[in-house]
Amino acid sequence: MLTLDQAREKMLNVLPYPTRIENLSINDAANRICAENVVSPINVPSFDNSAMDGYAVRLADLAQSLTLSVAGKSFAGNPFIGDWKSQSAVRIMTGAMIPEGTDAVVMQEDVTVNEDGSVTFSVMPKLNQNIRRIGEDVKQGDIVLTQGSILNSVSLPLLASLGITSVNVFPRLKVAVLSTGDELVPVGKPLAQGQIYDTNRFAVKLMLEKLHCDVIDFGILPDNPEQFEKAFIDAQSQADLVITSGGVSVGEADFTKTVLEKVGSVNFWKLAIKPGKPFAFGKLENAWFCGLPGNPVSALVTFYQLVQPVIAKLSGTEYQGAVQLPALAATNIKKSAGRLDFQRGFYQINAQGQITVQPVGFQGSHLFSAFVKANCFIVLEQERGNVNAGETVTIEPFNHLLA
Ligand code: AMP
Ligand code: MG
Repeated sequence: MLTLDQAREKMLNVLPYPTRIENLSINDAANRICAENVVSPINVPSFDNSAMDGYAVRLADLAQSLTLSVAGKSFAGNPFIGDWKSQSAVRIMTGAMIPEGTDAVVMQEDVTVNEDGSVTFSVMPKLNQNIRRIGEDVKQGDIVLTQGSILNSVSLPLLASLGITSVNVFPRLKVAVLSTGDELVPVGKPLAQGQIYDTNRFAVKLMLEKLHCDVIDFGILPDNPEQFEKAFIDAQSQADLVITSGGVSVGEADFTKTVLEKVGSVNFWKLAIKPGKPFAFGKLENAWFCGLPGNPVSALVTFYQLVQPVIAKLSGTEYQGAVQLPALAATNIKKSAGRLDFQRGFYQINAQGQITVQPVGFQGSHLFSAFVKANCFIVLEQERGNVNAGETVTIEPFNHLLA
């Protein structure tokens, strides 16, 4: 059985970055992955300007007298034009272009305006004080965004601030989703004896939407290998990635792996993690394949831990990995050695400012309802056994997929 790290490495090694590129207006590029290193066409700021409301001065003038006449005004968008005689200052606002020859801007709090309109400075400024120099933020030709960056509410406005109107992006990933199992009924239909509602397809679709994928819903497949074969072939012709759930174990009605072997190839299908021991990763002719286990807890955990990195790479970005924090176990935690365990937990900060965590409810992978009370995974190392209250454990606060 592979460890989680080995499995992730195996997947990331064989998965390609996307090759197709689209050019989109920055107005339509939110949540896309940048497909180029974006270079700034301009300097920012593009002219020397004031960082304060105050007065632009030359140090030589102030060396003679701390009282100067006022030659005019420079506003943001309305620069001072005219003669700036010696022994004068220019009234200036934040962001306004500094007059040529300015050595410093003195903030208005350090200046008194006299009755005759002249101004007296209470401090001697330093050279370049309160001046924002051309190119200080970004130099023309600088790379401001690298390939693989997510175009979000910071990076897109950055492009806008440079006058860039369009950007090369990778296409949205097309993901086919299907559930397998004779017992499954779509939500909204009555349940007959022995039937259950299809939870996984709904959960996977929600997470895919949060990852900004295009979802193609292939519905529910009965446990029949011929139908699996047909559906897999159909799905891979339309999608970049096919995600199934159920039928991936070793029961008599578990056909996912055998059909994947027949119409594609299996890379691995057994992991030393809990929940989620059976998880099939492989390839169909035109699409990659992830087979999630059927229990909804296992399906969500394996999607989170294994499919997230797959989607990141196929979408053209780097999987950032989960934030891991140390926390104190608030209760004893049951754990048997042998598999890396992702228990569902609730963490909080106690009165001493420490992070404490406890498992939410029973941890069986068929017990889904307690999951809603969790806000993190408690990640218990493969070889670790039972945890006593007060021991330190690692937690992973849920990201936006589960939050
Ligand atoms: P399987 O991996 O197909 O043996 O399924 C394992 C368990 O998960 C069984 O109890 C299934 O009934 C259940 N299961 C499989 N698929 C789903 C699904 N889409 N939604 C809810 N439960 C499921
Ligand atoms: Mg099944």
